[in-house]
Amino acid sequence: MNCLFCKIIRRDIPASIVYEDEQVLAFNDIEPRAPTHVLIIPKRHIDGVNALADTDDELVGAMFRVAAGIARERGIADTGYRTVFNTNRDAGQTVFHLHLHLLGGRALGWPPG
Ligand code: 5GP
Ligand code: ZN
Repeated sequence: MNCLFCKIIRRDIPASIVYEDEQVLAFNDIEPRAPTHVLIIPKRHIDGVNALADTDDELVGAMFRVAAGIARERGIADTGYRTVFNTNRDAGQTVFHLHLHLLGGRALGWPPG
């Protein structure tokens, strides 16, 4: 599939991978917006949140648990972090393969711009 994140999954293009299991891959964002900025993605292509099926519930839960585990590893679980799915134009989604942003390591403004 001609999708940037599917190419990262296949190792066709390099990424700084921080976690991998059977269904999920996590790697550092190429343009980090915070000291920790990791993207957690399913290995199976899903366009985004609007394309989730009820059979994906466990997968999405697993993505959040991977995010929490990485936050714990990096020592930001207690100080805090943000987990974000951007959907379509108004949220600024640029890659149409489902990805959960994990952002932390600094105080994050609210609401986001
Ligand atoms: P979105 O804007 O769709 O929510 O997030 C896409 C994210 O993917 C952005 O934060 C962007 O920096 C990141 N990104 C885009 N291309 C690449 C890439 O080739 N490698 C990595 N590691 N991240 C990428
Ligand atoms: Zn994909």
